[in-house]
Amino acid sequence: MADKVQVLPYFFGNITREEAEEYLRQGGAGDGLYLLRQSRSFLGGFALSVAYGRQLYHYTIEREMNDTYAIAGGKSHRNPIDVIDYHSQESDGLVCLLKRPFNRPRGTEPKVGPFEDLKEQLIRQYVKQTWNLQGSALEQAIISQRPQLEKLIATTAHEKMPWFHGKIDREDSEQRLLRSSHVNGKFLIRQRENNGRNVSYALCLLHNNHVMHYRIDKDKAGKLSIPDGKKFDTLWQLVEHYTYKPDGLLRVLTETCPRTSHNSEVSTVTSRTKRSRENAMPMDTREFESPYADPEELRSTTVNRSDLTLEDGELGSGNFGTVLRGVYQMKKIQKVVAVKILKNDDNNVAVKEEMLREADVMQQLDNPYIVRMIGICEAENLMLVMELAELGPLHKFLQKNKHISMKNITELVHQVSMGMKYLEEHNFVHRDLAARNVLLVTQHYAKISDFGLSKALTEEENYYKAKGHGKWPLKWYAPECMNYFKFSSKSDVWSFGVLMWEAYSYGQKPYKGMKGNEVIQMIESGERMSAPADCPPEMCDLMRKCWTYKLDERPGFSVHMHNYTVFLIRSLTTFLII
Ligand code: AMP
Repeated sequence: MADKVQVLPYFFGNITREEAEEYLRQGGAGDGLYLLRQSRSFLGGFALSVAYGRQLYHYTIEREMNDTYAIAGGKSHRNPIDVIDYHSQESDGLVCLLKRPFNRPRGTEPKVGPFEDLKEQLIRQYVKQTWNLQGSALEQAIISQRPQLEKLIATTAHEKMPWFHGKIDREDSEQRLLRSSHVNGKFLIRQRENNGRNVSYALCLLHNNHVMHYRIDKDKAGKLSIPDGKKFDTLWQLVEHYTYKPDGLLRVLTETCPRTSHNSEVSTVTSRTKRSRENAMPMDTREFESPYADPEELRSTTVNRSDLTLEDGELGSGNFGTVLRGVYQMKKIQKVVAVKILKNDDNNVAVKEEMLREADVMQQLDNPYIVRMIGICEAENLMLVMELAELGPLHKFLQKNKHISMKNITELVHQVSMGMKYLEEHNFVHRDLAARNVLLVTQHYAKISDFGLSKALTEEENYYKAKGHGKWPLKWYAPECMNYFKFSSKSDVWSFGVLMWEAYSYGQKPYKGMKGNEVIQMIESGERMSAPADCPPEMCDLMRKCWTYKLDERPGFSVHMHNYTVFLIRSLTTFLII
């Protein structure tokens, strides 16, 4: 959404109320003249400034919990542009109808707030420090978890600010403020001792050699305010506000009282609070990085049987046999794993070779959104030791968990597209991409599995040509697979569309009740499955694009489609609990 608003000619970015008024006056301040700006107190919110009868009025457009936008107490809309369109037709509480937008003067870009500038740097620092990630794992984490990270950063960024002194007591804050310069308006923020579960802060402000302490409380909705003052989503917004306006304080904030070298360590509770497994981000789990990322854990393709303990109880079963849960004793850590065990009743060489081929493909892949192979163990049976994705296949999980939100599903689908982008870039075709082959580590973390049909492509060809028809998952296959036995990343894109359909329909069977040849006929005649109920319209569009008949016109994972998905996800707010 932010991207769409940025390009509006009447969007001014992070300007103050006074600056907005100045602009509207420049524009003649005729009745119904308006402009849009970024809210300086609500994350992701906007403010609408309107002229009427020589006066100027300001309305906050809040972003609501379910990603809709509304002027407080008013009708909800899908985006701020719809809010404006609506109020061009209906005043509905506004002082007048919105008549004419006031556009930015030529050459003026929307104003970027101080936090926007800092954000990129803070996200990078945060991911590095919190999860100790580097290189491609760091980049993957930033790209794939951007919306969640932006929210995290926004609400913890104050910890990095020089004016935030962490948990210090009242006396200490006074000593710090009175230590050197006694400039009026010098300030710091400290975290107060917790009263029960609620975190509260104090703004300590120097005024005529005295330190004033203003309590900052957090209300039930998480908004911060000085008693009876304006409410803010974050401390840095509060500071920004009182820096330009006293608004009830004895004076505006002027100079930051910096943390000195002996008090530079900030002690807080917020950023270190552990997320529960249910709310965990992929980077919180052990499965995000390869177990071999630690150089002391020597990579080997074979696993010693003596280091592997198998547990009772099946995780599932497939073509080769059963999959059991196990524990693998590595050099430094014990890792819970999934072990695919080849049933060798009749010592079938072909099946064994098939499993070794799968292992060979998996061994070449290392991506957070793909189930990694840990090694092959040749003992009483041939065993493929893999990372464990405890919550099992996506379709079954969704069938049992109908409460999972569309946003959550989009998050998972996006992760699958990240894994597929990796495969595409490394010249592998999956050939069996389906919800049954996406396994969940947590409710917010998906990995692609089952590389039994996968092929590495050669440098020369960007497709794999099968010699003949096999036992194929026809309902997931693109027309060129059926007609010419040709498999490419573009045919994986077709399957990805079917996978999306499965995900948004909570694990229903695609083309239910239809036979393979009926499906082929349906596709050839140009018909496609209809969208699952409640599927976000942008996602339905994307699904249909994946089912473009001609593969040249079909989007790819890395170029077109990947960007689109990221764009969509960016427009969704994530309310992950810190
Ligand atoms: P497959 O033979 O790959 O089709 O696997 C059969 C079933 O075993 C899957 O549908 C899952 O329920 C389970 N399974 C396979 N691999 C894993 C894994 N890495 N983690 C957890 N469960 C798995």
